[in-house]
Amino acid sequence: MQASSPENPSTFLNLSLEAPLLKAINTMGFETPTPVQSKAIPLALEYKDLLVSAETGSGKTAAFLLPTIQNLLSVHSDAIGTRALILAPTRELAQQIFIQCQQLIQFTELRVGIITGGDDFRLQQNMLRRNTEIVIATPGRLLELIEQQTPNFTRLETLILDEADRMLDMGFSEDVLSIANRCNAQRQTLLFSATLTHFGVIKMADKLLTNHEIVALNTLHDGHRNIEQQIIVADDIDHKQKLLAWLLLNDKYDKALIFTNSRVQADALRGPLRGQKLRVGVLHGEMDQKDRNRMMELYRSGSVNVMIATDLAARGLDIEGINLVINFDVPRNGINYIHRIGRTGRVDALGVTVMLVKSTEWNLMSGIERFLKQSFKRRTIKELEGHYKGPKKLKSSGKAAGVKKKETKKKDTTEKVKVRLRDKKNIGKRRTPATQKTTESTSNQAPNTDQ
Ligand code: AMP
Repeated sequence: MQASSPENPSTFLNLSLEAPLLKAINTMGFETPTPVQSKAIPLALEYKDLLVSAETGSGKTAAFLLPTIQNLLSVHSDAIGTRALILAPTRELAQQIFIQCQQLIQFTELRVGIITGGDDFRLQQNMLRRNTEIVIATPGRLLELIEQQTPNFTRLETLILDEADRMLDMGFSEDVLSIANRCNAQRQTLLFSATLTHFGVIKMADKLLTNHEIVALNTLHDGHRNIEQQIIVADDIDHKQKLLAWLLLNDKYDKALIFTNSRVQADALRGPLRGQKLRVGVLHGEMDQKDRNRMMELYRSGSVNVMIATDLAARGLDIEGINLVINFDVPRNGINYIHRIGRTGRVDALGVTVMLVKSTEWNLMSGIERFLKQSFKRRTIKELEGHYKGPKKLKSSGKAAGVKKKETKKKDTTEKVKVRLRDKKNIGKRRTPATQKTTESTSNQAPNTDQ
């Protein structure tokens, strides 16, 4: 494998691609890498799993094709079967990727094939039998071929999911998972999505990616369509504990999930909440796997309906009925926040998330708002109102965070939340895709006390 250049390579030469690829890039008239190419290519060349937010028009196709082709060129393989598989939601998109791939491999010995519904089944079977190195497919037709035992993905080196959010919105989630399950478990996986704030994408990333890096280049402001995100300001930890108990005793939910930043804090909350006769469990990295499994089972069955967890323990947690997520501690970054709230708001359900914010966490919280390009709803519990009301200069910082004056009124907005929980009419409706671009790039490898 060749060394990739560090930060933001400004030319394709810095990306250490081999001559046939550089020649193709030149022939295609690409002069400099686009931002998503600069960020994603060096990481993908190192065989890292990636979760990338990038839209059509950003150069995302070359961002995954170039490193994949380069990796195929740099490792000689006599393997039987497909070496790189790209899944796309529609025939049109698969066709576009196919054309770009043909252009990029034109000076190499590699071959590419396409599998989409509507085309000749037998021809596609033959193409797969010829051990075509790169296969581009829509999930439905590929599964049909899998049922006939034709494709061989046991030696697959790279799996790419393009427009994963669209693929999930079109109902391909199960198909994608069952295709991924037939692929070599040691493969590299690259997941591209227009947005990272899509709970289905987060869950898919949990299932398919290992120790992945996140490349976030586009706006994140479309948000979770069916998650109402609130914050309540708190004076200190004691005040937070009272607010937490109040929420768990008064808000409506089937299952609640509470996040803390440390296992010490997770353990510390259990006693007081049990004292309130709540059915509480704890999940953190220090517990052995057997206890964690037992706790998950209790939570899944509903014997325990309030779970206190740390980030590490909650990764990959996919449990039905979680419709209240409380961030007792403000997470350390926006990506951790997205992962946490992604535990609620399944396809057909609404979820509420509440973040408890004390003065020392205010900046962290507004950083998350800026990262997501969203403002959280300010909520006040009348009988538990504290002294802290947010920073004094709320006018400017509040403006950046989108705070409206009337939302800071002293009242309990629980009633409003209940109404919203019942209001399902907007579920499933897509918002206008976001277009604004940022150059935020981040990793989900944030320090965690729950290692
Ligand atoms: P995509 O976002 O992959 O759909 O790409 C959008 C368009 O940008 C396609 O027509 C690509 O051929 C083109 N493109 C991709 N990368 C580059 C680049 N580095 N320079 C110029 N055009 C590019």
